[in-house]
Amino acid sequence: AYVITSPCQDEKAAECVEVCPVECIEQGADQYYINGDICIDCGACVSACPVDAIFHEEEVPDDEVGSIAKAREFFG
Ligand code: SF4
Repeated sequence: AYVITSPCQDEKAAECVEVCPVECIEQGADQYYINGDICIDCGACVSACPVDAIFHEEEVPDDEVGSIAKAREFFG
């Protein structure tokens, strides 16, 4: 699955929501979150994001790995 990292917190641009074919991106209080159980790994959201905040979970930068657990918590 793909993961949205901290640059989203200042932007919340929501372009990703528009392009996701399975509508698995939801707005949280601080940023948008991808539901990893629904994400089909299409990658469409990556290039749509104006702040390059979205990575595959296996390619998240070291200083952003906390975003993976944060997304899991968001969706319970
Ligand atoms: Fe949606 Fe595709 Fe991004 Fe997954 S990779 S969140 S399915 S747009």
